[in-house]
Amino acid sequence: MTANEGIRDLLVIGGGINGCGVARDAAGRGLSVTLAEMSDLASATSSASTKLFHGGLRYLEYFEFRLVRESLIERETLLRAMPHIAWPMRFVLPYHPGMRFESDTPTSKLLNTVMPWMRGRRPAWLIRLGLLLYDNLGGRKILPGTTTIDLTTAPEGRALQSRFAKAYEYSDCWVEDARLVVLNARDAEARGAQIMTRTQVMSAEAKGGIWHVTLKDTRTGAAQVIRARTIVNAGGPWVGDVIRDTVHSRSTDSVRLVRGSHIVTRRLFDHDKCYFFQGTDGRIMFAIPYETDFTLIGTTDQEHDDPDVPPVCTPEEQTYMVDFVNAYLAQPISVDDIVWTYSGVRPLYDDGSSSATAATRDYTLKIDKTAGAPVINIFGGKITTYRRLAEGVMDLVRDLSPGLPGKWTAGVPLPGGDFAVSEVDAKIADLARAYPFLSEAWARRMIRAYGTDAPSVLGAAKSAAGLGQDFGATLTAAEVDWLMDREYALTADDIVWRRTKLGLRLAGQEIATLDTYMQRRSIAAAAE
Ligand SMILES: Cc1cc2nc3c(=O)[nH]c(=O)nc-3n(C[C@H](O)[C@H](O)[C@H](O)COP(=O)(O)OP(=O)(O)OC[C@H]3O[C@@H](n4cnc5c(N)ncnc54)[C@H](O)[C@@H]3O)c2cc1C
Repeated sequence: MTANEGIRDLLVIGGGINGCGVARDAAGRGLSVTLAEMSDLASATSSASTKLFHGGLRYLEYFEFRLVRESLIERETLLRAMPHIAWPMRFVLPYHPGMRFESDTPTSKLLNTVMPWMRGRRPAWLIRLGLLLYDNLGGRKILPGTTTIDLTTAPEGRALQSRFAKAYEYSDCWVEDARLVVLNARDAEARGAQIMTRTQVMSAEAKGGIWHVTLKDTRTGAAQVIRARTIVNAGGPWVGDVIRDTVHSRSTDSVRLVRGSHIVTRRLFDHDKCYFFQGTDGRIMFAIPYETDFTLIGTTDQEHDDPDVPPVCTPEEQTYMVDFVNAYLAQPISVDDIVWTYSGVRPLYDDGSSSATAATRDYTLKIDKTAGAPVINIFGGKITTYRRLAEGVMDLVRDLSPGLPGKWTAGVPLPGGDFAVSEVDAKIADLARAYPFLSEAWARRMIRAYGTDAPSVLGAAKSAAGLGQDFGATLTAAEVDWLMDREYALTADDIVWRRTKLGLRLAGQEIATLDTYMQRRSIAAAAE
């Protein structure tokens, strides 16, 4: 064995969207890659987002034109690569004159100077101007542009109080965030990457310019050392811990942790558009059709000190979000209507902003060699910009290893996404024909989750019974086995909250039965 044998080109720390996106891009360029995730893929921030591929209309008020433009262009690139897990969505923005800016946005300050009589209000013409920019900054081909709707007659007005007479309607996209992560991991592995879940990076030491990295299997406690030329620190909320405690670098960059929470209620309106509500405090709130029978409401911005403290949606945040949407809804809701909540922590680059809402959502990539070998630290970013972020990381890797092949991921579908955006309904109908025992909702769920991989999940089954044990809510052993064999699922939570969202429909006992089944199957596989 030569001295260089067994040295990986990249060790990626973190199996969120940024780590998995980087692993995929790097593996596709021929680099040898190991990705270590201490828990499940997407177990942290990347399954807790609002799940929008969006330009971020509100970032225009912060003059974040680079981020908005890149994100707007990226929406359609991503949509084309994953028409199963992402889809276009229309956003209804009701207008009323009381809408206000957060007081320290650059736009608000500018307007207060030139039009002091506005006193922090967001005028209709400014929203229209913002939407005009939004429509035109980012090369739209699939998504329709902005329209105005009369809420006194349009169906979208029915769920709202009668004082809202007018709304703007614009386009963005929805994405199943946790599935996006796992599909990137699968594609990375198909291109040669090694994906290790339940594997914590404990320490990394540079010797002769090569990283010696100690990994721990978090289930067995077993440790191993691997060597790598470059570390990519995609630790999300733990990015600072990795810098300080794992690679011991002298980087002075720091992360600002901002918690965002969501609440889920039973379905509050009977159309497939999302509401974009503006508050009197300058913040915004989405109310989004979710998992057919539910409505997703979010989000908040709260400082969060410690990544090891699991984020939860506090009673105050729940009340805040309920009150926020009640200022719009014809039928008010209460906290008793909440059926589920989730929270995530944004690992933002600390740009010194005064408020959590104002801190930049743009990503910052920093290469640091102060510990004796290169580590690329990732701060911030959005689900929407993960692919571009990965390209940015590869640009830094190219500086270290000239001759690296160029960009390739734009236009290359993720697993199961090799069909056109317009073909989704046809794919659902095809699947229902091939498996006549599926209900329409079941066939839709399979295509939305697995796309053209759906037949491989269902196999040769001729009836529902042919799919093996029924865990409830159309989840069967065939799907569970596939998720364990192909998508790194190890526990019931991995399946009911990340590979799917069937946790919303399954009872506690059903989830416990699923967990037992998965544990037995893992033990049987280990014994073989
Ligand atoms: C409330 C909220 C709403 C959002 N909404 C949107 C949205 O609608 N659209 C959008 O584009 N973006 C949105 N975002 C932003 C987006 O979710 C994040 O930018 C993105 O998920 C961050 O991904 P990540 O891979 O950097 O971090 P994470 O997903 O947190 O992944 C980091 C991973 O690193 C692992 N890790 C850490 N340390 C170690 C170690 N030592 N060893 C092994 N593994 C380790 C962790 O377990 C974790 O899984 C939202 C964020 C929040 C919080």
